[in-house]
Amino acid sequence: MHVAFLDRDGTLIHEPPDGLVRPEEFRVLSGVTEGLRALKAQGFTLVMITNQSFLGSSERQMCFEKTQEMLFSALKHAGLAFDFVFFCPHSEAEDCNCRKPKTGMVDEFLREHEINKARSFIVGDRESADGGLARAIGVRYLKMEPNGTFPLF
Ligand SMILES: [Mg+2]
Ligand SMILES: [Zn+2]
Repeated sequence: MHVAFLDRDGTLIHEPPDGLVRPEEFRVLSGVTEGLRALKAQGFTLVMITNQSFLGSSERQMCFEKTQEMLFSALKHAGLAFDFVFFCPHSEAEDCNCRKPKTGMVDEFLREHEINKARSFIVGDRESADGGLARAIGVRYLKMEPNGTFPLF
């Protein structure tokens, strides 16, 4: 299995400066549908990996859940779906083991699947979180400009 691990905020959907994606500002970034379709056509397994830090904030949790629905619905219209979705709900202060660049979000997934790491990669807009996770699990990191155009592979 070859895997495209995809960050969410700032990579697939627009991330406002304060870091909270609200339903009323929801916008899929340009190139996302085409890019994901190209990945699918090349047999990639699509895996979302996103840091959210909503625990203790019902507003943040509501925004996350609603905008996930909006994203999945937009992708479904394009005939696309994620194969796996992983998120970390913790804040940095909680010092969990699943917040990127830590590997806890994908440890079980990596254990349970035969991954072709040479063909797999992470697309993200944060060097520390997304690039760090890519290095930690031994796959390439494809850096995107925050809120930029999603690459066509
Ligand atoms: Mg991001
Ligand atoms: Zn966590």
